[in-house]
Amino acid sequence: MSAQTASVAVIGGGLGGLAAACVSAARGHAVTLYDKNPWIGGKAAVLHEDGFRFDMGPTILTVPRVLERIFSEAGRNLSDYLDLVRLDPQWRCFFDDGSRIDLQEDIAAMADAMDRFAPGTKAGEGYRQFQALSENLHNISNRFFFWKPVEDLFDTINIRANMNPGTLRDVLSLRMGSSVAGTIRSKVKDERLAQMLDHFTQYVGSSPYGSPAVLCAIAHMQAAEGVWYPMGGTRAVVEALIKLAGELGVIFRPETDVQSIHIESGAATGIVTSNRDVARYDSIVSNMDSIRTYQELVGGDVGEHYARKDFEPACSGVVLYLGLKQRYDHLLHHDFVFSRDPEEEFDFIYRKGEPAPDPTCYIAAPAVTDASVAPEGGEALYVLVHTPYLRPHHDWSQMFPAYRQVILDKLKRTAGMEDIESRIVVERHLTPQDIHDRYKVLNGAIYGLASHGKFMGAFKPGNRSRQVQGLYLAGGAAHPGPGMPMVMMSGWIAADALDADVKAATMRKVS
Ligand SMILES: Cc1cc2nc3c(=O)[nH]c(=O)nc-3n(C[C@H](O)[C@H](O)[C@H](O)COP(=O)(O)OP(=O)(O)OC[C@H]3O[C@@H](n4cnc5c(N)ncnc54)[C@H](O)[C@@H]3O)c2cc1C
Repeated sequence: MSAQTASVAVIGGGLGGLAAACVSAARGHAVTLYDKNPWIGGKAAVLHEDGFRFDMGPTILTVPRVLERIFSEAGRNLSDYLDLVRLDPQWRCFFDDGSRIDLQEDIAAMADAMDRFAPGTKAGEGYRQFQALSENLHNISNRFFFWKPVEDLFDTINIRANMNPGTLRDVLSLRMGSSVAGTIRSKVKDERLAQMLDHFTQYVGSSPYGSPAVLCAIAHMQAAEGVWYPMGGTRAVVEALIKLAGELGVIFRPETDVQSIHIESGAATGIVTSNRDVARYDSIVSNMDSIRTYQELVGGDVGEHYARKDFEPACSGVVLYLGLKQRYDHLLHHDFVFSRDPEEEFDFIYRKGEPAPDPTCYIAAPAVTDASVAPEGGEALYVLVHTPYLRPHHDWSQMFPAYRQVILDKLKRTAGMEDIESRIVVERHLTPQDIHDRYKVLNGAIYGLASHGKFMGAFKPGNRSRQVQGLYLAGGAAHPGPGMPMVMMSGWIAADALDADVKAATMRKVS
């Protein structure tokens, strides 16, 4: 290795790990990426079954700017690797009372549609105000929270250096102490429209009643930057990153479970794999769940420190992959079939810790955009229902059959899909236990750690470990959080911090 470059191990090939590998390699470091699974991409996996192709995990891609930045690190154009199609309307919403509305990208058009949907409630004006607030929260997040290795408030705001009236105004604008649900309802009174806006927090697997108002910023990101479909499915994002990583010389080691991180005098010096191989590295990026990284790969006092912090896993979920012989013409690419009562639903998932009796179902029906997902006229229907993270008494091998029926009944009742059972020709599923086992997450969590806590709920373990020198964290359970754009940003931040530390160490040696 030259003085300015390091040997780097990336543990885990999810989108966060892949992003960290690409950025580290683009900055000149020698990267080896390990994943316990035979495939790379983690939750962004693909399922091929009898002529149907299903994205198994993420389906909604937002903020493609993050991907563009990763490709530009290597002097490449994203458009040479990925064909992105903008979807507008973004979601079709089916409510329990039989009403429907489409979420449109354009704020003025959406506000007009809301006024027609809920006349006399000033919904349109409320939505404009909500989006203005959301934009402001996003701008503040951009200054203090994004693209930086943050662990807590002290990393974001240098109180002594920055406590000027502008910063104080920003801190006050964060509406600390207010929840997402409360903020939405202070602007938009119609309960159905509020329920639709609540669902931006489902991107991070958290209750809108328990999440801090700053998460309202997600609404602005989606309105301003759109919802996108990568032709070939979200799996195409993984394929594009694998191609870039290969061109940059990243070595892939699939089917290799990392059992521990070797630490000497407080610094990470290598890894030990399940077949007892010991490999030395200058720096390590862990894309494994951050809490499990500290508890299982680092251990000792550091592991106990993070156990005591009591981070709560985000929600889990059940996914049905249904190959239909005939598609439904009344569905959009993305659809939400809402529960009868959001408070009841979120209370079950996030407080009682039991599946909701009348859940919201998210549907992806991609054949309208990409005919290659199914045999002609058919549909690769994907239905996701959020459930609580795994509790000790949850046995999904017993719980699944009854809950599958709850989901199908909901689609029949609320989304006009009465004949769904007769259209199914292929069926597979994913339960919280499957998610736990396949991706080595915390209690089956889909989205890393919950963002609960009206003051500090947005903070996660930071990307540059404070406890172990040379260890960096990327992924949904690290800063800035879950979802495709955020985990890829976390990979960028981890690699950027690593690169800065290697260069600073070199400068110290030279001077
Ligand atoms: C059903 C579902 C639907 C979703 N829908 C969306 C959506 O529509 N839009 C969106 O933006 N996001 C969505 N998400 C969330 C999104 O998929 C995740 O936030 C993101 O893909 C997680 O990336 P990650 O970098 O945290 O890594 P993960 O995907 O969690 O991958 C981590 C990898 O690390 C490996 N690993 C862990 N420990 C070790 C070890 N010790 N040794 C070797 N390998 C190890 C695992 O095998 C895994 O491959 C969804 C997720 C799921 C499951």
